Amino acid sequence: MSTLSIIIPVFNEEGSLAELYREITSVAESHKYEFEIIFVDDGSTDQSWEVMGDLARADERLQCLRFRRNFGKAAALRAGAAASVGELIITMDADLQDDPAEIPNLILKLNDGYDLVSGWKQVRNDPIGKTLPSKVFNWLVGWMTGVKLHDHNCGFKIYRREIFDEVKLYGEMHRFVPVLASARGFKVGENPVNHRARTHGVSKYGWSRLPKGFLDLLTVSFLTGFNQRPQHLLGMFGMLSFMAGGLGLVYLTVYCVLRVSFEAFADWLPLHQRPLVIYSLGALLLGAQLLCMGFLAELIVAKGQRDGREPYSIKEHLGAQSQDPEQAA
Ligand code: UDP
Ligand code: MG
Repeated sequence: MSTLSIIIPVFNEEGSLAELYREITSVAESHKYEFEIIFVDDGSTDQSWEVMGDLARADERLQCLRFRRNFGKAAALRAGAAASVGELIITMDADLQDDPAEIPNLILKLNDGYDLVSGWKQVRNDPIGKTLPSKVFNWLVGWMTGVKLHDHNCGFKIYRREIFDEVKLYGEMHRFVPVLASARGFKVGENPVNHRARTHGVSKYGWSRLPKGFLDLLTVSFLTGFNQRPQHLLGMFGMLSFMAGGLGLVYLTVYCVLRVSFEAFADWLPLHQRPLVIYSLGALLLGAQLLCMGFLAELIVAKGQRDGREPYSIKEHLGAQSQDPEQAA
């Protein structure tokens, strides 16, 4: 059995930490897992740090990290993963809404041949103001990215370590790990998990998560589709717009020449009364701007390649200097 690292982001959750620790250790011990728990205190202002400190002093399987201020859940997960050693990483919320008794089921599902298994809060114990937007969000993410899960934003997930090595979390990208991982070829699945109502503390996300989540979704679909070739998107629209503007101006030039050269066309409207002039110029400028933005984006991508970010993800490597475990044994 691989080592498990259970990473828990904590932002003002003093009331649930001790119980959560107890539940996780009891499940992990009863299944004889080799495991570590990592609490990441994301700038809590309550007694969370003191509570986790007391727990850590009594159990060396528990590590605690403390941010200087609140950096957000994605940063907390990233820091936790960096401090962890397990081949399998589990992330779960600190508020006791995720039930540690589901950990064995997530592991079983992962071993069916997945690299990431996301929890799916099939019966969700949250107010309707949370569950309804979440349904729309999940549908939208599936439609825009092709990664169809019922519950992308579920904090309860299991991952093979390579995912955290390759997918670097920042901002509020924790909602999109399945999409980002799938874009690098990792196999993503889901498994229903028991979900409980929050009994301690308050939810950290309000309505503002909707517009933010949507903007992030646009970013993610751009990043996953055009990360290595932004000019293909920007330049495509740029070229179309530039061509439309150019055609408009060519037409207007011919029009103008005919109008001044031949008596028969003398009653045509003068150029300054043709709105097409404005449209054509607008389209030409927009096109040039999009193309330039595309080149700037390509410069950034090219720099990223020089800085060592790999545009591919290797699953296995056999043969000379390979890491084949059977050969090494
Ligand atoms: N969290 C965090 N940093 C933040 C906000 C939240 O570490 O800035 C943690 C929080 O303590 C909890 C998890 O992320 O462990 C999920 O937050 P919450 O339960 O408030 O989200 P909800 O379940 O309401 O979607
Ligand atoms: Mg919660």
